[in-house]
Amino acid sequence: MQTTKRRIINFHGIGEHTQPLEPGEADYWLGLDRFCYVLDRIAAHPDRELLSITFDDGNISDILLAAPQLMKRGLDAEFFVLTGRIGRAGSVGADDIRSLMSMGMRIGSHGIDHRDWSKLPAKDLDNELNTSKKVVEEICGCTVRSAAIPFGRYNARVLSMLRNAGYEAAYSSDKGSADTLSFLKPRTSIRHDTTDGMLGRILAGHMPALSRIRRAAGMTMKVST
Ligand SMILES: [Zn+2]
Repeated sequence: MQTTKRRIINFHGIGEHTQPLEPGEADYWLGLDRFCYVLDRIAAHPDRELLSITFDDGNISDILLAAPQLMKRGLDAEFFVLTGRIGRAGSVGADDIRSLMSMGMRIGSHGIDHRDWSKLPAKDLDNELNTSKKVVEEICGCTVRSAAIPFGRYNARVLSMLRNAGYEAAYSSDKGSADTLSFLKPRTSIRHDTTDGMLGRILAGHMPALSRIRRAAGMTMKVST
């Protein structure tokens, strides 16, 4: 099989949030107009076939705002939900998750409680990975193959436990391009302060040389600790 480089664009909440946010989380929320603008840029991009879209955290905006706007443009996405928040105020419920699937969207696990997996004791990490997978599988009625790593924080142990739990792909936040055949899939999150210029470079897969070097060094360090 031939490998292809893809750019994976990650979103979080869209529009106004109704629930309290975690520290720093507000930076990752986009207004609806800005979100629609980014989707328009993706839908019209010459490399559209090389662009993938994901959503983290299972916010209620996934079903209320994101999915309808994706469908309007013929786009699809993978939604990584936190099973500890399913059905809570501000988050998707089990029926919403099934609705997303019926709209042609894919569902993955983001764990249970949005913990830093790189710091969790093995027993807790094992529970985060296995229990969340099982819960999403019961809701969806199909095998869950991918996980998105909370805060993008991982190490060699996290990756090996993800593999042992049966995941076939781990989505990180390392920016740049993702190799279709590799287990670790770097993504770039669109933030409220992502400028039009930055967005253009993200969608084109362009990364300044210095950032590329730093990224490679950071990823090497993470997988070797
Ligand atoms: Zn998250």
